[in-house]
Order: sequence, then C-alpha cells, then structure tokens
Amino acid sequence: MKYTIDKNGYYGKFGGAFIPEMLHPNVEELRLNYLSIIESAEFKKEFDQLLKNYVGRPTPLFLAERLSEKYQAKIYLKREDLCHTGAHKINNTIGQILLAKRLGKQKIIAETGAGQHGVATATVCALMGMECIVYMGQLDMERQRPNVERMRILGTKVVAATSGNMTLKDATNEAMRHWINHPTDTHYIIGSVVGPHPYPDMVAHFQSVISEEIKNQLTEAIGNPYPDYVVACVGGGSNAAGAFYYFIEHEHVNLVGVEAAGKGIGTSESAATTALGRIGILHGSKSLLMQTDDGQVIEPYSISAGLDYPGIGPMHAHLFDTQRAQFLNATDDEAMNAGIELSRTEGIIPAIESAHAMAVLPKLDLNTDDVVVVNLSGRGDKDLETYIKWGRY
Ligand SMILES: *Cc1c(COP(=O)(O)O)cnc(C)c1O
Repeated sequence: MKYTIDKNGYYGKFGGAFIPEMLHPNVEELRLNYLSIIESAEFKKEFDQLLKNYVGRPTPLFLAERLSEKYQAKIYLKREDLCHTGAHKINNTIGQILLAKRLGKQKIIAETGAGQHGVATATVCALMGMECIVYMGQLDMERQRPNVERMRILGTKVVAATSGNMTLKDATNEAMRHWINHPTDTHYIIGSVVGPHPYPDMVAHFQSVISEEIKNQLTEAIGNPYPDYVVACVGGGSNAAGAFYYFIEHEHVNLVGVEAAGKGIGTSESAATTALGRIGILHGSKSLLMQTDDGQVIEPYSISAGLDYPGIGPMHAHLFDTQRAQFLNATDDEAMNAGIELSRTEGIIPAIESAHAMAVLPKLDLNTDDVVVVNLSGRGDKDLETYIKWGRY
C-alpha cells in the first residue's frame, strides 16, 4: 500500500498535524476515534441510507456518446452534479456530521470560500437539527451573496472574517480560533482532503463512494471495473481523491488531476499548485503550496471559486511526487470553452470547476478503445453569472 496514509498520518513526506498546542485535544479526539466509528456497521448503515435516500446515490455513470465520437475514445461522465445541493461536497458533510453526533458534539463550525462547502454543511446541520456557524471572509461574502443567503435560509449563522485579505485563509483562522475556545461541544467540518491528520484520510474515505460506484457501474457496462483513465479537477482535492480512491493501487489505471491555471501558469494569476508550488505547511499539514521565497502564502486566482486554493491535499502532493498521478492544468478560457462544449454536445451545463477536468480531454493521448471516466464534480447552476459575464457562447 504505497499510496495510503501511514500510522503517523503521512502520505510519503506529506501530511501530519501541524497545529497550535491548544488544538491538540480536539484533533487527538478525532484521530483516536474516527476509524473505529466510520468503520462500524451501524455507522455505515446510516451513512449509506442517507447517501441513497437524501443525496440520491448512486449517481449515474453516463456514456457521453457525442463526446466519445469527438475524442475517439469511450468517455464516461460520473454525475456528481446530480447530488443533492449540486456537487460531491455533501458526501463528506453527511459523513462528518454523523461522526460528530457519535462523538457527542452538539454544534458544528465550518469555513467556506466560495460558499459551496458552507451550503453543504448548513444543509446537513438543518437535516440533523444541529446549530451551525460558518466563517466566511467578508470579501467572499460580498462576491458570493446567493450562497450566503442559502446558508441563512437553512438556519446557519454566517460570520464575516474581517482580518487579512478577508478571504478563505482568514475564515479558516477564525474557525480554528472558535474551535480552540469550544473544544468539547463543537466539531469542525473541513470541506476537502486538507487540514491536519486525520482530516485528509477521513474526507477521502467519505468521498471514496465515488470510485466504489464507478467500479460497480463499469463492471456492469463493460465487464471490467478498471478504466484506462480517471480525470478529476483538483482544488483541495476531495472529488479527485474520491474518484481515484479504489484505483490508486491499480497502476494500470491512469490518474489525471486537473488544476486551475487561471490566466496561465506564467502569469501571477493562477492556482496551479503542482506547477508553481513548493513544500510547506498550510492549514495544518505539510504539502505543496504556492508561496513567496520567504514562505508567505500567495493569493491564488481562478475563474472558478472552488479551485481558487493555494495548496493541494497531502495525498495529491504524494501522488504527484511519486508520479502515480499526472497533474495537468487548464486556463480560465480552456475551462469555459470546455463547459460550453459539454453543454452543446451532451446537454449538461457543468460547474466551472468540473469544466476544468473536461478541458484536458484534447491533451490526453487517447486510443479509440480507451475507457475514460471524467468526474463531473458539480452542476453549473451556481455559475450562471460567470458564464454570462464570459459571454462567448
Ligand atoms: C468545491 C468544489 C470543487 C473543488 O474541491 P475539491 O475538494 O478539490 O473537490 C470542485 N468542484 C466543485 C463543483 C466544487 O464545488
């Protein structure tokens, strides 16, 4: 098991738990309990029930015939865009809130950048009748007004982070501070495969349902659970982690992560961490991140709010380092064109994050009998404004 986490919470040289002393008890409580809880039959039963009846799983695996014709390969789309709330993030928030209940927590906190993770968290808190506070940078609150109102409608309190650049990093700091002050009754739901151990492993575990379903669905469709390629966009890396999970140890399956190049990796406006990043510590774990020579985190840029993150999770840093996965990137324009192409060829308007994954299809060296699964992480409804502003359709 070369690519899985070791007992100290490391994927190769990445991972660990780099946290202030005062957070140690919270993280330690999670670390000591998460595996026994999430692997229990009783937990699995409730998790699977909710994924089925609330989220709408299994999500379809759709053979995109017109795209297959165009790219001369068998292109399948894993339809995470059809999940309740419009993306894969709900798989993780359901898992974490069930865990929080079993740890005896009554309150939930989260941080959010674009608001998607905040909405997924607010949703499960409403479902479970738990009190919820979401920290969000004040600037992000202005930019993502509809998601702020969605959270409020769901009964969540949205608190503005007013320090620093007033974006995701500042919201994360506020959430950490809250957790330090409320260690016993509160669980902190992190939204991607980032943060201190055990979060990356725990979130990957909850998202692994994606590749579990792909295996079953491919077996049914073509009599073989293993595709030639799995392609997924990478912000922090949770939808990619879920789509790769059961294929990682099968080295004949090509894993392709797609990062946002923004205006191009040669410009200062990008979020392509594997191309531009170096090893460092971000949000409690050692990984690759975009930083200046003296270690200050560089503010990332992408047209897609969900990929606008200055690092990647430690699992992906390790897959990159060992070359087990290939990391490509797509610019704003390439992603937008791919989003329009998918809309026109298959009648599916994707989230702009997911459009980044679609955008690398022309860059892969495909054969006609190759089976390619693209993880369509979310739907484009939330991005309508961005499509309209971009305007080239
Ligand atoms: C948040 C989000 C992403 C990026 O997050 P990952 O943790 O990298 O998956 C990708 N797609 C959609 C639709 C999202 O909402």
